[in-house]
Amino acid sequence: MESSLSAGTTNKTVMDRYMKLPMPDDKCQVMYVWVDGTGENLRSKTRTLDFVPKDPSELPIWNFDGSSTGQAKGTNSDVYLHPVAIYRDPFRLGNNKLVLCDTYKYDNTPTNTNHRMTCLEVLKKAEDQEPWFGMEQEYTLLDINSHPLGWPKNGFPGPQGPYYCGVGANKVFGRDVVEAHYRACLYAGINISGENAEVMPAQWEFQVGPCEGITMGDDLWMARYLLHRVAEDFNVVVSLDPKPIPGEWNGAGMHSNFSTKKMRETNGILEINRAVDNLSKNHAKHIQAYDPRGGKDNERRLTGRLETSSIHDFSAGVANRSSSIRIPRGVAEEKKGYLEDRRPSSNADPYVVSEIIVRTICLDDF
Ligand code: ADP
Ligand code: MN
Ligand code: MN
Ligand code: MN
Ligand code: MN
Repeated sequence: MESSLSAGTTNKTVMDRYMKLPMPDDKCQVMYVWVDGTGENLRSKTRTLDFVPKDPSELPIWNFDGSSTGQAKGTNSDVYLHPVAIYRDPFRLGNNKLVLCDTYKYDNTPTNTNHRMTCLEVLKKAEDQEPWFGMEQEYTLLDINSHPLGWPKNGFPGPQGPYYCGVGANKVFGRDVVEAHYRACLYAGINISGENAEVMPAQWEFQVGPCEGITMGDDLWMARYLLHRVAEDFNVVVSLDPKPIPGEWNGAGMHSNFSTKKMRETNGILEINRAVDNLSKNHAKHIQAYDPRGGKDNERRLTGRLETSSIHDFSAGVANRSSSIRIPRGVAEEKKGYLEDRRPSSNADPYVVSEIIVRTICLDDF
């Protein structure tokens, strides 16, 4: 019989003994989490504090070896971590915290993959329009050998059809990871709003939002961190690649739903149409911002097939899942609500996506 354990796997029952040890009342473990030099992967490390922080502003600025994360040269390697958002730690429990940080070089300028700083500046300019985001994070579960979870070792599962929102051991693979992640997010204080099994087997989605302003990017990055950590516990790997399996298999996106106060009010559809018009004039610029490789990743995904639009053309439509922008049926009927930008890839940076959407729609900055 094939073992599901790899050499690196430890015994979680033994581990539980140590996690139950009572901790000193006056100590707290704070895990600093940040986006590394790839702009896709996350890193983390922990320090002990002798108080329980309530707000990121109470936390010390820290640093790390940026030459080991693609964020600095070895000869000048210290990169600064600035705490920006604080969460309850669903792994260590108690008073322990996870803290999301953005990163700054030795001269206090943002690192190349710190896209939060400019995002926040732009969002502040549009604060009065009350921008809300809701992002749908699609991802694929892989086994420790990078093979899609539950797929036959040789060959492929049956064609797509029965898997989306499916139930049953022959339809969905890895539900434990999804369920554990959902609860970990709620515990942490992330505004997670749902999950579903996706069209390709072993592919899943969770949604975060609606979130106002920068909270969208903060919560989504921390939700990604929790997903990688939870999957690690199950000896499973998470891939955010937008087209993990070439051919007749759906890719993975990060549909970005967006609204302003005006769009949510009576006859907001007029404002939604104006937003679509602005978006139509900036298609190429948005495609550049919608994956970490300036559009290269989305070339594999946005083929105009398998519920995607073509990367080359802008399109919009009511209830249309083959367009760049979809106006949900309910929004068209109520004549108010939000729009869905279906173009961002699953590995896009939510700060970059938030920033360009607000520039184009709210600030007419193009
Ligand atoms: P679908 O799969 O049909 O595209 P989902 O239910 O997966 O839709 O996701 C809808 C997303 O839209 C959720 O993340 C939700 O938070 C977000 N959302 C709902 N209302 C608004 C709104 N007014 N403004 C922005 N986002 C919204
Ligand atoms: Mn050291
Ligand atoms: Mn969805
Ligand atoms: Mn989906
Ligand atoms: Mn969607």
